[in-house]
Amino acid sequence: ATFDDAGLHPVLRQNLELCMYVWPTAIQCYTIPALKEGRDVIGIAQTGSGKTGAFLIPILSKLMGKAKKLAAARPNIAEGWNPKEHAVTAEPLVLIVCPTRELANQIFDDARRLCYRSMLRPCVVYGGAPGGLQREELQKGCDILIGTPGRILDFMRQPRVLSLRRVRYTVIDEADELLQADWEADFNKLMAGGDLNEDSDHRYLMFSASFNKDCRKLAAKFLSKDYVRIRI
Ligand code: AMP
Repeated sequence: ATFDDAGLHPVLRQNLELCMYVWPTAIQCYTIPALKEGRDVIGIAQTGSGKTGAFLIPILSKLMGKAKKLAAARPNIAEGWNPKEHAVTAEPLVLIVCPTRELANQIFDDARRLCYRSMLRPCVVYGGAPGGLQREELQKGCDILIGTPGRILDFMRQPRVLSLRRVRYTVIDEADELLQADWEADFNKLMAGGDLNEDSDHRYLMFSASFNKDCRKLAAKFLSKDYVRIRI
């Protein structure tokens, strides 16, 4: 397969070239058409397999079709940012949850490069760093939110910062790690008590190095029954 066969948005196609992604990796070959068909996906793959692109490429390609409309709804800060006047509640369409700050930043870097010249706005939030700047970025508007569970919950609890009610794609990255003791409580709170919408057109994607019992339970709870399972 090639990226040309995939019917990707032309802006994304260009950005893949700028990133020097010439051929899709194996996991990308399977996830791109699955997402295009509207299926939920479980990818069992290691870091290094191109799994970040596997979810970003099909999701961003779809979102780019409405990027102009999304951008028009964001505050116009061309003449300077004044939070009192401009701040909006972030209502991302894509939520990407992962266990660590390092991974969040890696996904954010890839998302920024793939969103180049698209008018889509990715934001990243994580704990262990001051929240002020992260909050300000959210309040400038956010289409794609990448973050760790605890900090996402923090921002949801603050007035007029973040709402997940418009999310259409939820990506759970390194699910096996998120289900470990250190993260599990916050992660479960986010998935259960968050304001994630339960519409049937809300797609879920799960990536994990292993597919243990806890991962299977999580998948049974959130993914539609005809999900595609891909093991690389
Ligand atoms: P990941 O498994 O998402 O951590 O990706 C591993 C590395 O492969 C990252 O440095 C990506 O930038 C790179 N990469 C992802 N997809 C492709 C592709 N289709 N062609 C070349 N490199 C890629």
